Amino acid sequence: MNFEDIQAVRNLLSEPQEIVIVPHKNPDGDAIGSTLGLWHFLRMKGQKATVIVPNDYPKFLKWMPGNGHILNFEKHNSQAREAMEAATLIFTLDFNHLGRAGQMEGFLEKSKAKFIMIDHHQAPADYAEYRYSDVEKSSTCEMVYEFIGFLGETDNINSDMANCLYTGIMTDTGSFKFASTTSRTHIIAADLIDRGAENTKIHHNVFDTNSPGRLHLLGCALKNMVILKDYRTVYITLSQAELDAYGHEKGDTEGFVNYGLTLEDIIFAVIFIENKEEGIIKISFRSAGSFSVNEFARSYFEGGGHNNAAGGKSEVSMEETISKFMVHLKENKEQLTG
Ligand code: 5GP
Ligand code: MN
Repeated sequence: MNFEDIQAVRNLLSEPQEIVIVPHKNPDGDAIGSTLGLWHFLRMKGQKATVIVPNDYPKFLKWMPGNGHILNFEKHNSQAREAMEAATLIFTLDFNHLGRAGQMEGFLEKSKAKFIMIDHHQAPADYAEYRYSDVEKSSTCEMVYEFIGFLGETDNINSDMANCLYTGIMTDTGSFKFASTTSRTHIIAADLIDRGAENTKIHHNVFDTNSPGRLHLLGCALKNMVILKDYRTVYITLSQAELDAYGHEKGDTEGFVNYGLTLEDIIFAVIFIENKEEGIIKISFRSAGSFSVNEFARSYFEGGGHNNAAGGKSEVSMEETISKFMVHLKENKEQLTG
């Protein structure tokens, strides 16, 4: 963020605002951590603020302080719409084009509020008056920490903010192991611990929450894994019937896609998950090294994300989706194996 923008945002926050904070659809740890972290900060500043999520999110994120105040656009629709209509300032966090807000897209487009985007994905759209966009950053939570610093308020970060922000940094960096993890990430994480983030407890709350169903579903996913050595690629499929058989709950498949990358010489891992209700196959892409899954997802599967982690979707059957995937995999053989 440049100096003028920081000044302008500081001026805005020196007046009472009606603030709404929105993460992307199917919010993950970084989305919930950053919105709640910012929410605690804005409330501490005496602002009226509401977090509105486009839809539900996994149980393993619901322990975060402030969680009970989140409005779900699907469940608390009239309350959420009221807050959106009254909003003078809207923060959009962890996404950069309004299509990622699911059913909230149209309402955001219509809003007269000023927008502030804080995000670390590629190719930001230009709907926001104030844009803090940096693809080098590990997570939006890291950026919210920096944003609070730009405002000269780092010393006001309390333990609630610290716990929320630490969570998103931890989840988006794969517990500090992905290439996006920098020394700055560690410095910020350390400072958050000093300010009250309970790192061991956070890790436990997020990762030690398996149900027997989830572990069985993981077994099923690993059994379904197809290894395409010639393309240095692995893919997994999960049908709706398989999800149902193991009592699938939201968030159960989180992290499954990463297993493929633990195989020697595999640099591209994909998971295709059928969602009968939405009539789509939701796809997650992961890579190791320079192969850009952001470009792959953007070019062929209506998606996007980061160089090494992206998502997309397909509106045809699983079988047709895999055929399409194979066609594009072949087109990319050179980049994958060269
Ligand atoms: P995941 O595979 O964990 O759902 O998402 C990986 C990354 O890609 C995240 O940063 C997420 O925000 C982004 N992403 C996931 N699905 C989509 C999508 O459909 N469109 C876009 N543009 N990004 C996505
Ligand atoms: Mn993120």
